[in-house]
Amino acid sequence: MEMHLRFGMHRDIQLMHEEKDLYDGFVIPAHILSYQEASTSAFVTSLPDKSYVIDPMTFIFQNPRGTHFNDDDELRPSVRKLCVDYGKELVDSLEGLGTDDTLSAAQVASVPNLAKSIAKFQLDKVPAASATSAAAKYLKRYAKTEYKLPRYVLSPYYFFHDVGDEWYKLSVSSLKTVQSQKLKVPVAGVVAAHVAALTTSGIKTIVEDYSTSECVFIWIDDFNQTQVGRPAIRRLRKLIKAFDEKGVRVELLYGGYIGVMSHFDGLDAISHGILYTTHKSMYLTPGGGGAPERYYIPAFKEFRSLSQTEVIVQKQPELLCDCRVCKEIIRGKPNRFMRLAADPEMLRRHFLAVRRMELDGIEKVKLEGVLKELRTTYEKYDELVSLLPNPDAYMTEGSMQGLGYLDTWADAFDPDVE
Ligand SMILES: [Zn+2]
Repeated sequence: MEMHLRFGMHRDIQLMHEEKDLYDGFVIPAHILSYQEASTSAFVTSLPDKSYVIDPMTFIFQNPRGTHFNDDDELRPSVRKLCVDYGKELVDSLEGLGTDDTLSAAQVASVPNLAKSIAKFQLDKVPAASATSAAAKYLKRYAKTEYKLPRYVLSPYYFFHDVGDEWYKLSVSSLKTVQSQKLKVPVAGVVAAHVAALTTSGIKTIVEDYSTSECVFIWIDDFNQTQVGRPAIRRLRKLIKAFDEKGVRVELLYGGYIGVMSHFDGLDAISHGILYTTHKSMYLTPGGGGAPERYYIPAFKEFRSLSQTEVIVQKQPELLCDCRVCKEIIRGKPNRFMRLAADPEMLRRHFLAVRRMELDGIEKVKLEGVLKELRTTYEKYDELVSLLPNPDAYMTEGSMQGLGYLDTWADAFDPDVE
């Protein structure tokens, strides 16, 4: 399975160069490319062996006016820049809204040639911006650079609750418009759905409409893998399977271990940031805030704060990771765990190394083996972890979260569980 890293923070650039054997490509958010075009384009160009796609980020136009304006009631510069790149009418439309109002699908649809300019942005931005003198300044740092096109053009997409709603219709018509242009690279559809939209008939309609493209990207709103229930996981599984059966390549935008397990349903790739965005809500404003410093516990298939992890590995040292990074720094000794806190870069390298092992490993095992592993971990550690003192209690209240989610995943993937 492939792993594509979501480009978010410029401080990750060096790491992405040094650990380039661990991942397959990038997802570049359009607003970052638009606002920091020289540095971002130079970065993409500096890794010619890595493929990329540009996430058009069109869902942000569904968010309330207030999320786009600063305290002086000015459109935030990064949003303004993206609007200008896509169609300056978007600026007028956003400015014309009341504070809590949102654009309607009809207003977005009325922006002239919107879908076409979004496709053009994805094809032209990197080649054009990486040829400027501003980019040359960044490019000088890199040994190898080469111009390349994205692996797919992603069609503009909008969140929908139901295949009957206007945003769904606009997403499908945008896909058709982009497909009709006969571009130099293939077009991929993006299905951005609330889980409620994934009914049996909803999935049928979505797959009919989107299997006209050779690849689809799926994003289920706020699909927090430790919180979602069995029915939600099964709906996502059905959607992935249905596309796979049609011969469509399927990728997940934002994904955690449920995404890794979706290999058994035909998923081809997942994407996420280095320590963040293994799920994402459409209502969160892009940008803002750094990545949290947290540790991915391989057996738990999830992140924990460093202080929680320390309490856990003191009690159960066998949970310490043996990837090359952890071997070198922790050396199997729980009292060395906090050395990672002094070097947060290592948290990132550890996560990438473990995720790579998970993605390679899942291709070599059977589903039954994975389910057994999840259930064994749940049975062995769930109660134990929830009884440990919670060092974050002053912030999050109460005891540490148990591992019930592992049991939920196992049931959701088990063909023998109703
Ligand atoms: Zn490790």
